[in-house]
Amino acid sequence: MATKVFIKDFKNHVDEEVMIQGWMFNKRGSGKIYFLEVRDGTGVAQGVVFKPGVPEEVFKKAEELTMESSLKITGQITKHPKLENTFELQVKDIEIIQLVKENYPIAKKGHGMHFLLENRHLWLRSRKQRAIQIVRNTIINAVYEYLNDNGFIKIDAPILTPNACEGTTELFEMDYFDEGKAYLSQSGQLYIEAAIFSVGRCFDFGPVFRAEKSKTRRHLTEFWMMDAEAAFVEHDENMHIQEGLIVHIVKKVLENNLPELAILERDIEPLKKVVPPFIKKTHTEVVKELREMGSDIGENDDLGGDDETILTQKYDKPIFVEKYPTEVKAFYMKRDPKDPRFALCADLLAPEGYGEIIGGSQREDDYATLLGRIKEHNLSLDAFKWYLDLRKYGSVPHSGFGIGLERIVGWICGRKHIREVIPFPRTINRIYP
Ligand code: ATP
Repeated sequence: MATKVFIKDFKNHVDEEVMIQGWMFNKRGSGKIYFLEVRDGTGVAQGVVFKPGVPEEVFKKAEELTMESSLKITGQITKHPKLENTFELQVKDIEIIQLVKENYPIAKKGHGMHFLLENRHLWLRSRKQRAIQIVRNTIINAVYEYLNDNGFIKIDAPILTPNACEGTTELFEMDYFDEGKAYLSQSGQLYIEAAIFSVGRCFDFGPVFRAEKSKTRRHLTEFWMMDAEAAFVEHDENMHIQEGLIVHIVKKVLENNLPELAILERDIEPLKKVVPPFIKKTHTEVVKELREMGSDIGENDDLGGDDETILTQKYDKPIFVEKYPTEVKAFYMKRDPKDPRFALCADLLAPEGYGEIIGGSQREDDYATLLGRIKEHNLSLDAFKWYLDLRKYGSVPHSGFGIGLERIVGWICGRKHIREVIPFPRTINRIYP
C-alpha cells in the first residue's frame, strides 16, 4: 500500500508512490489530461491525470470531480519539469470520498465582505484565510515561547467574574444563580496580579469580551488577549519586556511564514525593521505632534483611532506612547512620582497605520493610594476587597501589559480589518456563524 503523506512533506518522497487525502481546490484540463489542484491542510499540490496513463474509470473520476469534493489520491511524486522546489503527483488512482453535487458557494470571483462573513465557515478554506490562521498560530506559539523563556508561568484567569474589572468598559452581563450578576471577563489582569505573589511572573491567554459599541476596524466584541504581569518590574523594564516580545514574534513569523506572507501579498520590508530600540514618546509629545499634523486632540485626551492611524503612518517602527494623563487611564495604574498628573503607563502602537496593540502600566502598589483611587472611581469596595489584599500582604512594585492577539495578527498579516484574522468574528452586528 502507498505511504500516506502530507503535501508539505513531498520533497522528502520524490519518486515514491504515495497517497494523499484532501479536497479538490481547482481543476484544469479536458480531453486527455486533467490537472487537479488538491489541498490537504498542509499545502496545495497538483495532481496530473493522463488519459492513457490511468484506467478509464480513474480518468472518469477526474472528469466528474467538483470543487471541494473530498478525495484520496495515489500517485508518484515527481519534480516539476520547470519550477524549482515544486513537486507534482502523477496520479494512478482516485478515491472520491464525497462528491460535491451543488456549486460551491465561494467562487473565484470577488464576493462582498457581507457574503464572505455569512459564509465564514467555508471562507476559512481559501488560500489567504488559511495563510492568516497559520501566521496566527506562529504568533500564539511565539508568545508562549518568549514568555516561558523569560520566566513567565501560564496562569489561567477566570472568564466569569463577579464585577467589572476596570470599571471602564461595558461588559456582557448575566444572572448567576443566587449570587446575583456575573460578567464575562474583559481582561484577566487583576487575577494574574494575584498570582505573581505566588509565581513571580505569569501570563494568561484567552478570550475576553467587551460589550462597548465600538464599530471600528480595530474592535471585536470577543477577542483573544494575553496579559502578562511581573513582580519587581517597574515601568521602563515593563516596556523592555514588551519590546522583546514583539521583536521575537516578528522574527518567528519571518522565519516560518514567508510563503504565507507572500500569499497575503504582505510587503515584508517594514516587518524587517521591527528591531530594538522602538520609538518612545510621551503622551504630551505625541499630542503636540498630532496637533501639528492637523488633529484636534486635546492635551488630556486619549488618542482616538484616527490619531493612532496618522501617527503610526509616519513611522516604520513600533512606538511606545508613555505617561498618559491619569484621567484617561484605569484606576490601578501607578502615578509618575515626578509628575502625578501622569500615569506610569505605555500603549504600544504598531507602525504602518495599525495603531494600539498593547496597553500596559506599572500598577499602584500602595494600599491607601489604591483604596482612595477605588473610591474616586466609585467602584465597589466589596468587589475589590481581594484586590486590595494584594497591597496588604507583601506588596511589591509590579507591572504588566495586555496584548490583543487579533491586533498583532492584523498588523503582521497586513489586513485592514481585524475581523478577518479571528476564525469566527463576533462584532456588534455579527454572531453567525
Ligand atoms: P482601545 O483604546 O483600542 O479600544 P483599550 O485601551 O480598551 O483599546 P486595553 O483595555 O488596554 O485596550 O486592552 C489591551 C489590548 O487589547 C489593546 O492594546 C488591544 O490590542 C486589545 N483590544 C482592546 N479592545 C479590543 C477590541 N474591542 N477588539 C480587539 N482587540 C482589542
